[in-house]
Amino acid sequence: MGARSGDASSSPESPDPGEPLGDGLVSLTQHCFGPSGHLAQAAAHYRPRAGQQAMAQAVAQTLQDGAALVVEAGTGVGKTFAYLVPLLLSGQRALVSTGTKALQDQLFDRDLPAVVAALKLPVRVALLKGRNNYLCLHRLQAAPGVLAATDDATWRDLAVVQRWATATASGDLEEVADAARNPNLRPWVSSTADNCLGGKCPVFADCHLQKARREALAADVVVINHHLFFADQAVRESGMAELLPSVQAVVFDEAHQLNEVGVAFLGLQWGSAAVTDLARDLLAAGHTHARGLAPWNDLCNALDSAARQLRLAWPHDATGRMGWSQPEPDGVRPGAFAAALADVQAAAQLAAGAAQLLAETEPDLARMAERAEAMARTAGLLAQPTPADHVRWAEVGHHLRLHQAPLDIAQHLGPMVSASAGHKAWVFTSATLGMGEDMRWFTEPCGLVGATTLKVPSPFDYARQALMVLPSWPKPTEGGHEERVADLVAQAAAVLGGRTLVLTSTTRAMQDISQRLKDHPLMRGLQLLTQGQGSRAALLKEFRQAGEGAATGAASDDLRGAVLVATASFREGIDIPGRALQLVVIDRIGFPPPNDPIVAARSQRIEAAGGRAFASYFLPEAAVVLKQGSGRLIRSESDRGVLVLCDSRLTTMPYGRQLLAALPPMARTQDLGTLDRALQRLLEIEKAPKGLE
Ligand code: SF4
Repeated sequence: MGARSGDASSSPESPDPGEPLGDGLVSLTQHCFGPSGHLAQAAAHYRPRAGQQAMAQAVAQTLQDGAALVVEAGTGVGKTFAYLVPLLLSGQRALVSTGTKALQDQLFDRDLPAVVAALKLPVRVALLKGRNNYLCLHRLQAAPGVLAATDDATWRDLAVVQRWATATASGDLEEVADAARNPNLRPWVSSTADNCLGGKCPVFADCHLQKARREALAADVVVINHHLFFADQAVRESGMAELLPSVQAVVFDEAHQLNEVGVAFLGLQWGSAAVTDLARDLLAAGHTHARGLAPWNDLCNALDSAARQLRLAWPHDATGRMGWSQPEPDGVRPGAFAAALADVQAAAQLAAGAAQLLAETEPDLARMAERAEAMARTAGLLAQPTPADHVRWAEVGHHLRLHQAPLDIAQHLGPMVSASAGHKAWVFTSATLGMGEDMRWFTEPCGLVGATTLKVPSPFDYARQALMVLPSWPKPTEGGHEERVADLVAQAAAVLGGRTLVLTSTTRAMQDISQRLKDHPLMRGLQLLTQGQGSRAALLKEFRQAGEGAATGAASDDLRGAVLVATASFREGIDIPGRALQLVVIDRIGFPPPNDPIVAARSQRIEAAGGRAFASYFLPEAAVVLKQGSGRLIRSESDRGVLVLCDSRLTTMPYGRQLLAALPPMARTQDLGTLDRALQRLLEIEKAPKGLE
């Protein structure tokens, strides 16, 4: 992990964070958010909001008590300031974790500096990134030798990184992003937990990663992301292991992602590529540091051969995801899988033994010995039965990947939170934490059932700002659904001049709808953007620019209004306020795929305990997905827009009505004529900013 750090100085008007915590923090927080508080003094446009104040006070109380708080704060509440202000006022050393690196940057570069400036507090802040974001000086030294036979472009990129390496202060590879993104080069300019030499590294004193970690350890508030939090918990690769015990408060923003991120990191992903990677690295290290001192070729051939056998436990044309009922995964030839695992274990043990003999004199070989030992242990573990509350599966393709995952993070996070009761505060917040008042969708899998919960509704006037359209169509499972959706989108987008986001439940539906729109006569003059045709950031930028151009009438051939068709990853983290996005169309209810191994195992566990998987798992999951997608529409108090939910089960099935109840209270209609009128109304919105019906 690495860090950027920042500072701010105090002034005579600053609140005093050095005072011991008492009820004072709650009243100080209250004052800060008041009409004459620090936020009002710092920003002329600041307006006190009841929801934001309620959340800030709850956070202050939690910090005071060293307790756990779960807050669902609807869009527009201002949750970031609601936790940052009491956190900084408290003077507590804190970790703030966000869902993604992009949000991490936004928090560090925009929100934190704004709060620090408003409060005028002397706070040292740092941003921690994953280790692969930082230049590894040790691997860079080895790169020219290892890349000897590579292509010209990689040599050119290496030269760029080498030149930059002599001048950079931070070692953040983002500074030479274009060159460092080269996939041939990347493994040789950054480190992994597997190949980092740590304290035995010959350039340890100059290591950018270590320097950045030291800065983070000295900071008062450290911004991380959930991946980093769990990656470190999972592999104990330092950084967080030192940092977590030293903080008094931990805040998870975008907390709805916590369980799935944790499950991915606390599980095990391993396969034939890991074995061949070890063989490749061992051969390079052996020949570089101990040529002739061990039979490196034989040792590495044995690893490669075992990796091949592991894949060949399945027929060569087998492909896709395989379940893993005991004792072996589905589809393997009887006995072949266990034999291949035993071969990997034996080859890894031999490799570890050879590397260990030379480990004293060469840190690279010491690390190789550790990696080979870990691999032998993993192969041994996968030969054992699946642990309770875990699930296993295999992904078979050119390579083989084996997965073992816990069903949730309750056993991991729950004890961590309860063990620190009274002396460490935990705040979990998001705009979407389930469908009911109790937020069990979030608290149960995270082991937080005893935590205090608070639900702060959005301050937006949805009934006036938005219209929800529920077409009376056949069920989406009946034929022709994508055609109907594409037709509706083309007609509506033609009226609006684009400014339309279509969110689909599957990649296949996305491609189908996108293809139909491409061929649709009403789409002439509009730009069609589809997820995958560029980076997410580039697509969103194009969509926003096109939407703004269309809304102001400035659209030219180069800047036509756009329709963006996307799937799951565009349901969150998109914030396009104003007229650039005024229509969101969702193709169907997004239930979790029942044949996914984790979904199936979770359902079985609920049913085995006497529960109903549909009611307590599938439905809340679908509600979260629907809330997230719908949440893209109204992003500010002046936004107006239309949401079209193309799944008639929402009105015809009892569970559909439960899902609708979880959404903001928009005006509703099933009449497509009303949709037309609402779209026309949006075009006149500047002149008549009233309701949409
Ligand atoms: S300690 Fe050495 S091997 Fe590890 S990241 Fe730093 S320079 Fe690279």
